[in-house]
Amino acid sequence: MDSEQLREYGHRMVDFIADYYKTIENFPVLSQVQPGYLHNLLPDSAPDHPETLEQVLDDVKAKILPGVTHWQSPSFFAYYPSNSSVAGFLGEMLSAGLGIVGFSWVTSPAATELEMIVLDWLAKLLNLPEEFMSKGNGGGVIQGSASEAVLVVLIAARDKVLRSVGKNALEKLVVYSSDQTHSALQKACQIAGIHPENCRVLKADSSTNYALRPELLQEAVSRDLEAGLIPFFLCANVGTTSSTAVDPLAALGKIAKCNEMWFHVDAAYAGSACICPEYRQYIDGVETADSFNMNAHKWFLTNFDCSLLWVKDQYALTEALSTNPEFLKNKASQANLVVDYKDWQIPLGRRFRSLKLWMVLRLYGSETLKSYIRNHIKLAKDFEQLASQDPNFEIVTPRIFSLVCFRMVPAENDEQKCNNRNRKLLDAVNSSGKLFISHTALSGKIVLRCAIGAPLTEEKHVKEAWKVIQEEASYLLRK
Ligand code: PLP
Repeated sequence: MDSEQLREYGHRMVDFIADYYKTIENFPVLSQVQPGYLHNLLPDSAPDHPETLEQVLDDVKAKILPGVTHWQSPSFFAYYPSNSSVAGFLGEMLSAGLGIVGFSWVTSPAATELEMIVLDWLAKLLNLPEEFMSKGNGGGVIQGSASEAVLVVLIAARDKVLRSVGKNALEKLVVYSSDQTHSALQKACQIAGIHPENCRVLKADSSTNYALRPELLQEAVSRDLEAGLIPFFLCANVGTTSSTAVDPLAALGKIAKCNEMWFHVDAAYAGSACICPEYRQYIDGVETADSFNMNAHKWFLTNFDCSLLWVKDQYALTEALSTNPEFLKNKASQANLVVDYKDWQIPLGRRFRSLKLWMVLRLYGSETLKSYIRNHIKLAKDFEQLASQDPNFEIVTPRIFSLVCFRMVPAENDEQKCNNRNRKLLDAVNSSGKLFISHTALSGKIVLRCAIGAPLTEEKHVKEAWKVIQEEASYLLRK
């Protein structure tokens, strides 16, 4: 590492990135390249000799940026957001600069201890129960993604129950969720060896705004018990991916408790909003959960990746995931004086990710973060109002946070035609390059999703987005 080269190149790279943000609105939001485009632009093998930073940056401009979908564009409304911010960026930079790998406490005590402290700070902001804090048996950990979070708790829960009923019972273990739960749970079940027939995907429909009905869960659990199966894991949602549905945590948690099941709450997107007192109600009942997850890298100004997982029983995780090879033994770990986060996750190596969350919390403060969330929710309300005033459109599910689910209304009550029309509208809007929205299906209806949450989005971008959608819709109707 040449410090002077770092200084010089680092400044130039920061300038390059700052210019990117300054001109981000000039790019088509959704990349318009065709599959394989880059193969035609780059050489077949790596260079034998050093090239200059200029040459590389020229290629970034000419060849890479056309193939980038601009997630940080103020007109990015697809999926859920993946925030980048100055504080988050600086934290990433510092983490890369220090270049540590903090798998055990001893490999960089600050990395482990800062992570514990920052997750306690956030648990306090969310008003999570004390049992999720690091003082007792619980604690928080940063995972790479919500998918990793649900996988590690599923494995912890699986091993916990198998320790009491015997290893041969794996085939009998049953997992419950609604059909609105993210596919990350299905993947976790595949990896954890849960029998595919033992994954109960319970129907949630428009009668509950796509929230899971506790009666359905109770019925399924009773049926499984009668059949000699072992209910062991329930995943509930606060803010589903399709439509931000919120499952009734308290009622579901009660059923989980009565049946000694592990209760996981996935609040990957909406968890951020729950730092605002007026949105905290959506995680009421989290006291009954065994684990809770929110992605700070979605809507909390923290650069990807930074998925926050809290558990009440850290030993369930470490029993399932710890290894203790000779080459990693050290006094602090052997004496059980410290947390070794390698035993709370799948990989061994881990980055110093708490730095960026710490910087976000310190450089912005919780009040600014609350205003940030509230502003996006207000913008979503504005969009919802615009869409609801247009007779060609309808709002499909009530908006709770900053996602609006809408669609063009069916002509002559023909749902098939309506779906085709909405697909066409989606394609037309996204290939305009002016904005990027996504879609989902709810009760067989193709629904358009406008998720507001990019840090640069302002009222004018939301209004402009609606104008483009309306124009493309009128064009389709005229055709
Ligand atoms: N859970 C919910 C509710 C989500 O919306 C998403 C992604 O958008 C996930 C889980 C998966 O997130 P990740 O990419 O962090 O695994």
